[in-house]
Amino acid sequence: MPHDLSRSKDLLERAARLMPGGVNSPVRAFKGVGGTPPFIKSAQGAWLTDEDGHRYVDYCGTWGPAILGHAHPQVVAAICAAAGRGTSFGAPTAAEVDMAEAVRRYYPSIEMMRMVSSGTEACMSALRVARGVTGRDGIVKFEGCYHGHADSLLVKAGSGLATFGVPTSPGVPADLAQHTHTLAYNDVAGLEALFEKRGGELACVILEPVCGNMGCIPPSAAFLEALQRVTKAHGALLIFDEVMTGFRVARGGAQQLFGVDPDLTCLGKVVGGGLPVGVYGGKAEYMRQVSPDGPIYQAGTLSGNPLATAAGLETLRLLAEPGVFEGAAETTATIVEGLRRLAAEAGVAAQVQHVGTMFTVFFSDAPVTDFATAAACDHARFGRFHGALLEQGVYFPPSGYEACFVSTAHGPYEVERTLDAAKVALGA
Ligand SMILES: *Cc1c(COP(=O)(O)O)cnc(C)c1O
Repeated sequence: MPHDLSRSKDLLERAARLMPGGVNSPVRAFKGVGGTPPFIKSAQGAWLTDEDGHRYVDYCGTWGPAILGHAHPQVVAAICAAAGRGTSFGAPTAAEVDMAEAVRRYYPSIEMMRMVSSGTEACMSALRVARGVTGRDGIVKFEGCYHGHADSLLVKAGSGLATFGVPTSPGVPADLAQHTHTLAYNDVAGLEALFEKRGGELACVILEPVCGNMGCIPPSAAFLEALQRVTKAHGALLIFDEVMTGFRVARGGAQQLFGVDPDLTCLGKVVGGGLPVGVYGGKAEYMRQVSPDGPIYQAGTLSGNPLATAAGLETLRLLAEPGVFEGAAETTATIVEGLRRLAAEAGVAAQVQHVGTMFTVFFSDAPVTDFATAAACDHARFGRFHGALLEQGVYFPPSGYEACFVSTAHGPYEVERTLDAAKVALGA
């Protein structure tokens, strides 16, 4: 039976008259892989159901947050209970204190923090803190790393931009973009040379400590060492954007996994349990400079709102249970090994890269270490692979520049379904 997406097609036609691409976030439009995006009606555990009634094993996980799977009964109950007490007060609550204490337990480097409503806001605000405390304007980011869509950070920003072949968005003032220095990921010599030349102008280095937004790319040990060394030597702040990697590559993020103590950290995605949340924070000496303790301004009407806080707290509580995170990481390793074996059997050149509960299938005969090697992969082949998986009920993120996310709800049955589908899709 052909994969009939007629209801999704009708919806897309209506949507495209009203929203650019018919979507509220670009990659959802499937331009990176071709075909019609299934409109999702509901989700439960590891499964999505679309408007045409198809079911899919989900590896998008709402782009990372759904580490416990969708609609986890205890998370839903926590949200409902909170909603009954009022959805927003614009005044402090006990739950925010619990939440901040929970984040601090997982991330000892985050001595103080602020809750915001998205990862974009978290990164934008962390940048302001770095600039505010150092009195410097320059920032360093890495090509292919995405830190949300704030002006300063939308320069060579991977992910959606890479999917559409736009390195830097129009609408970012040149006056602002000139302060953003971009280097290749894992480029130690480039980093040292830039600091040698401009160290005194640079407020911070921001990076995804395991990249996810050009596909899953781990940092080299030498790169991690150099980041810490040069920022310290030149008085610049090291910002770990763990919006994706937080609670994903390890409970305590990449900083726990690699033993790094960043100055500032950004969180989002999992920390909100599927509701809109971001967190930025770090060393108290810097965070005390934020208003009203200090002069660096940042605020939010719905920041720390009760629904998002309830979802986040319950998610973190469930993740703390012994074996829960480890189970999802083991499932990921099983999928990754299976995909590697199938690719080898099919004679397909593929790199299946993974850290913790994220992985990416790159169609390449050499390891992918930065944006140039990610861009050199066979993205047309990824599109065919993606389409063939979808037809067989497996939903991968719709771009070769993205990571797949595994949840605690992915069990042996889902893994088997996935590998059966991949066997066919690798021949596509
Ligand atoms: C998703 C993401 C962001 C942006 O978060 P939003 O909630 O989409 O604004 C920032 N940084 C990283 C590393 C991300 O993966």
